[in-house]
This record gives sequence, structure tokens and C-alpha cells, in this order.
Amino acid sequence: MGRRKLAAGNWKMNGAKAALAEIEALEAAFPAPDCDVLICPPATLVSAMAAIGSTVKVGGQDCHANASGAHTGDISAEILADAGATAVLVGHSERRADHGESDADVNAKAEAAWRAGLIAVICVGETESERTEGKALEIVGGQLAGSVPAGATGANSVIAYEPVWAIGTGLVPTLEDIAEMHDFMRAELAKSHPDAAEDFRLLYGGSVKPSNAAEIFAVSNVDGGLVGGASLKAADFGGIIKAASEG
Ligand code: PEP
Repeated sequence: MGRRKLAAGNWKMNGAKAALAEIEALEAAFPAPDCDVLICPPATLVSAMAAIGSTVKVGGQDCHANASGAHTGDISAEILADAGATAVLVGHSERRADHGESDADVNAKAEAAWRAGLIAVICVGETESERTEGKALEIVGGQLAGSVPAGATGANSVIAYEPVWAIGTGLVPTLEDIAEMHDFMRAELAKSHPDAAEDFRLLYGGSVKPSNAAEIFAVSNVDGGLVGGASLKAADFGGIIKAASEG
């Protein structure tokens, strides 16, 4: 069976209660899209967003590896699940850069997500200098090896390739470069996870917009997108859901 596309949004540190109107608009416009839809809002909105409708599934943006305890300011996968989340991002480049998260940390967070019944959206991607130096495949291969636990399957995990230099910059790799990376990731996963490799959804992330989503989602081994800025408004994200539904 083919892989169902996923349109995933990451609101980052944006979104007060009024932003829930964007989810209501998406629910009205897409009662039954031909793709999965996920939005990861700030943790304060998870519960209210999960209560709105059935099209938009809700995710966290990060989780602690432990289920509970003395970790001020952190949130566990169990607490996210209790609030209505069905997924959580782990290893986003902003977490890796701002909070020094290592591949081992990301690996532990992915296992924590599964423990709570959440899908782990495991993020990888090279920096601009790593790409310029011709090291993009090597870097992403290393991140996959370190960040994707042995127990990962297509049902409990999604892999998001997000070149750091394309996030929030308006820069996008060529379609050939996206295809090269996604084909490479599938081949690496076939070595590390031979039974699951064909089932993993591989998302592309980095300046996806309604105007470029269809061509990106048509690329070999691209099974949808992880979208930052263009996920904040229903009018923009709706175009991306449409592209994922038709792709
Ligand atoms: C992201 O934050 O994961 C992202 C891809 O952001 P943007 O779409 O704004 O580049």
C-alpha cells in the first residue's frame, strides 16, 4: 500500500488562543482530505486545538525523555498525550541548536514518544556550511543513525528532512537535491530498518509554501512536508493540504 501523505505544521513560539480560529477554518475547508494533517502548536494550545475537530491532529514541538519529574519548564510525552496530542516533533534543528540536543537525546525522546503512544516526528538536516562543503549526505546519514531508534516503524515514526539553511529563509534546495537526499535517506533506512524502511513517511521541510508544495511533494520519496511560517494561516496551510491531497 502506498504511503499516505502528511501535511505537518510547526507553529514554533507563535499562537495565542485567537489562533485557534485558523484550525476552525481548516476543519471547515477540509472535512475529509486525502492526506493526514498535523499541527504542532505551543503546548498551551494542545488541549483546546485537539478538541476542535477531526481533520487536524495535534502534536507537541518537543518532549522530555522522562515521563514526569523535577524538570522545570519541560513537558513529557505522557502529558502531551493526556492533553490530546497524537504526535511530537523531536530533534528540530532549533532544539538541536538552541538547547544543545544531541542525536542521543533525540533518540531517547523518540522512544519516550512511543512509550506515551505518540508518533515521533524525528527531524534531521545539514547546515549551510555542511552543504557547501559537500557533507550533507554524510551529516544526515549520521543523524539518522544516531537519532532513529532501532524500534522505529512507519506507524510510530515519521522522518523530516529539514536543511537548516532553508528553514525560515525562503531558500529551497533544488528538486534534484531534495530527491537525492530523500532517496539517500530511504536507502540508509533500508540498511538500518530493513523491515520498516518502505513504510516511513519522509517529509521535506524548509520554506514550503502553497506555491512550491505541489512540485516538492511530487519528488521521489517525499511523503509530505513539515511547514513553519506557512502553517500559521489557514489560507496558506490550506494550499499545502490541497497539494498533499492531490500529490
Ligand atoms: C520548520 O520550522 O520546521 C520550518 C520548516 O519552517 P519554515 O517552513 O518557516 O521554513
